[in-house]
Order: sequence, then C-alpha cells, then structure tokens
Amino acid sequence: MIAELPKEEILRQREFAAMVRELLAVRTQGASAFVQTFGCQGNEADSERLRGMLELCGFARAETMETADLILFNTCAVREHAQDRVFGNVGAVKSLKERNRKIHIGVCGCMAQQKHVAEKFRQNYPFVDLVFGTHALHRLPELLYQLYTAQKRVFALDETAAIAEDIPLRRSSDFRAWLPIMYGCNNFCSYCVVPLVRGSERSRSPARVLAEAKELVAAGYKEITLLGQNVNSYRAADAAGETVDFPKLLRAIDDIEGDFWLRFMTSHPKDCSEDLLQVMARGKHIAMHLHLPAQSGDDGILKRMNRVYTSGEYLRVANRAKELMPALSVTSDIIVGFPGESYDNFKNTLRLAEQVRYTSLFTFIYSPREGTRAAALPDPVPHAEKVKWLQELTALQERVSAEQCDAMRNRTLRVLCEDDGKKMRWSGRTQGNQIVEFDGAAQIGHFCVVKITNVIKSRFYGEMI
Ligand code: SAH
Ligand code: SF4
Repeated sequence: MIAELPKEEILRQREFAAMVRELLAVRTQGASAFVQTFGCQGNEADSERLRGMLELCGFARAETMETADLILFNTCAVREHAQDRVFGNVGAVKSLKERNRKIHIGVCGCMAQQKHVAEKFRQNYPFVDLVFGTHALHRLPELLYQLYTAQKRVFALDETAAIAEDIPLRRSSDFRAWLPIMYGCNNFCSYCVVPLVRGSERSRSPARVLAEAKELVAAGYKEITLLGQNVNSYRAADAAGETVDFPKLLRAIDDIEGDFWLRFMTSHPKDCSEDLLQVMARGKHIAMHLHLPAQSGDDGILKRMNRVYTSGEYLRVANRAKELMPALSVTSDIIVGFPGESYDNFKNTLRLAEQVRYTSLFTFIYSPREGTRAAALPDPVPHAEKVKWLQELTALQERVSAEQCDAMRNRTLRVLCEDDGKKMRWSGRTQGNQIVEFDGAAQIGHFCVVKITNVIKSRFYGEMI
C-alpha cells in the first residue's frame, strides 16, 4: 500500500512557507540557514528536502554555521558514537547562540524521533529551539512558523509515518542524485534502531519514482542511486493495479535512454533474488556493484541478529551474483562483537570475508541501542577485545582489497570524475565504487576512460586516455 500524505497537507505546508517568508522579509534583511547532515544517504536525501523547504520559506543558503540565522542538525541514531558526535556538535553551537541571541538552532531526524533523546534536548540543551523527528520532516514550514510567532521552543514528535511527496528539493550535486524509493524497515534486526526511528516500510509509487528518474537523466545526472533500508522489499502497485517489485522497478529505470549509472542500496541478502541478479546482469546502466551486508558469518549470531539467513545461504547469493557478473564488486557491512559473540563465532566472519572476497567492507563494533532486543542481552566481551577482532578483520580485508586492486593494473576503466583533487590530480569512482586518482583533461561530473598505471594499497592511480 502506498501511504502518501494527502495533497491538502502539502498545500498547507506551502501556505506556512509563504507566511514564514513574509515574517522573515519584515524582520530581517535576508535570513540564511545551514543544514548539517550526519549518517547515511537516506539522511543526505532528507537534507536535500530540508534545504528545498528552507528555500521556499525564504532562507538563503549559509556557507558556514557561523554566518547562519538558522542551524539545523539532521541526525543519525544508528550507533552510540554517531549520536555522541551530534551531541558534541550541537553543544558546540551554544556559544554562537550566546553571542547572537537571534539565531535559532534545530535538531531533527533519527535521534530526534526517539522520545528519550528529544527529552534530553528539552532538559539539557535549552538553547535548542526546535526538535522534530523523521515523521515530521515535511512539517518544517509549519514548525518554523510556530517558532517565529509563539517565541517558544517547538517539539514535534509525530508518531505516524507516511510518504510526503511533492516536497521542494534542493539537490547537493548536479551530476549524482539520491532517489529514495522507499522509507522505513520491517526487518527488526535485533541490534538495529532504524525501524524504531524510521517506521515501517512504505514504498513510493512506481510512477513517481520513474518520473523522477527520467527528470534526472534529462537534466544530465550521471549517477542515480536508488535508496531504501532494504530496497529489495520494494513493492507497490502501478496505475493499472499491477504489483511492481524491485527487479521490475529497476528494469524500468534501466530502460531509460541516456548515459548514466544506476546504483541502489541497501540489499538485504534474504530478498536478493535470482530475478534481481538477472536484471542487474542484463542492465545497460546498472553499475557492477552490490552492497550486500552480511553483518556476521556465524549462523548462531546471524540467528540472534534476526537476519533470517545462514552464512551458507549468503555465500550462495554472493557466488551466484559473481557467476552472473564476473566484474561485480561486492561490499558489505559487518558488526563485530554482537552480545555473546565468541572469538570462535568471529572466526566464521573472517572465513566468510575470505570466501566472498569483498571489494571493501564497512566494519562496526556493536553498539547497544535503547529499545532494541539485543540491548537486553548479556555482553561480556570487553571493548578492547572487540577492537582487536575488528583490527584482525580490517587487516584481512586490506590484504584482499589490495590483491584485487593489483590485478587491475594496466586495465582501462570508465570513471565518473567527481573531484578536481586539491592534490593536483583528478579523482573519480569506478562502477564498483572504487576511487581512482588520475591525470588528464577531465571535467567534473563527466565520464572518462582511465588506464590504471599504479595501485597503492587499494587505491588506483592512472591516466586518462
Ligand atoms: N538497512 C541497511 C543499513 C542499516 S544501518 C542494512 O540493513 O544494511 C547501516 C549499518 O550499520 C548496518 O548494516 C549495520 O552493519 C550497522 N549497524 C546498525 N545497527 C548497529 C549497532 N547497533 N551497532 C553497530 N552497528 C550497527
Ligand atoms: Fe536495520 Fe536490519 Fe532494517 Fe537494515 S534491515 S535497517 S539493519 S533492521
């Protein structure tokens, strides 16, 4: 089911935006806003909407926090460390406010959606004026209006998660775009706070997703990344009432004429079907990259994580993907030190990483999150021990990555140039999402062909041909 917010609600927000614009015009000579984003690509995409709404409300974009009249922190709650960084950053702007009482400070997103965290901001951060969770994101114009007219702090912890369409959007790049296709998650992995702060799964209408993808290609975007916590469980009805699943949606976007790469993340291994792999293998635009988080290579730990696959099943999917697409780059997330994990359990993760031969790995030490099932489990292994395990995994991965990169010497690769490199060289990414530094007459936001002339650890160096 597509749970879109009624059009009237979006129109109501546009009216609030107009009222805020009027207020700002009367009170100030051009107010500006700064949005700082923490966390995943989903948050980056949300921040593009926040910036779009701020623009509609009459704010210019401030280049720095110090020059902004409104500072918004769009936050991440996935690990304690991420959360601490936010508290640190928010704490640091207190002095700005003390120097200039006119500025306003807001905290939104995943942290703000949790009641106990919102309460902490209420109690301990009196200089924070505005707190709103992920479900209230589309109400920013209304919340700003309340803030400016009532002259008191505003807290919005809406409980209902819906899809807000037709929100103004200010993209941060003119050649790479985030395209959210679904929100929320129903998987309830036992360690994960995401379902608690993002709500249950909602898929956007296929017509809307396709129209947005076509617009992006027509506007010259070279890389489109479809976003969702678990894109493989995308499911929505089209105008004719037919169910569109993820492989079907991906194929429809891949059919768009143009020169672009199509990426997607994240894929849950349990739903990574043969159908999806076939669509990838036959795709014209689909990048040869699959982010397939394993989390662990131990069946007992996977079970307690509620990942609902075994390491054998995971390996079969990864091997099948590589069989169909020999050039495929497979990457993964791994959690080290889940409650009750022993070194023997962890060795199975090392073994899996060796067997899959990932291009790269994102590794995290387990972090207990309030409200999740794993947070109640006994966790006797000391942190220092977990750090050692993490280092062992990182060392293994560095070796595997370097071996794979070394085999690419003298090959030519298509690269999307993304940076003119302060280091005198250009830099870009391959289809497999690997970084390449190169010389030549490139242009940011354009594809070029690069011959790999050197490899240092897992970084490519080359020359444009
Ligand atoms: N929906 C995606 C991403 C979720 S969050 C997925 O399922 O893959 C990104 C990553 O953060 C996860 O893949 C996991 O590896 C890590 N993560 C989530 N909760 C965590 C926790 N409590 N402690 C440590 N790492 C965590
Ligand atoms: Fe969290 Fe699991 Fe959902 Fe990913 S699939 S967001 S790890 S609950």
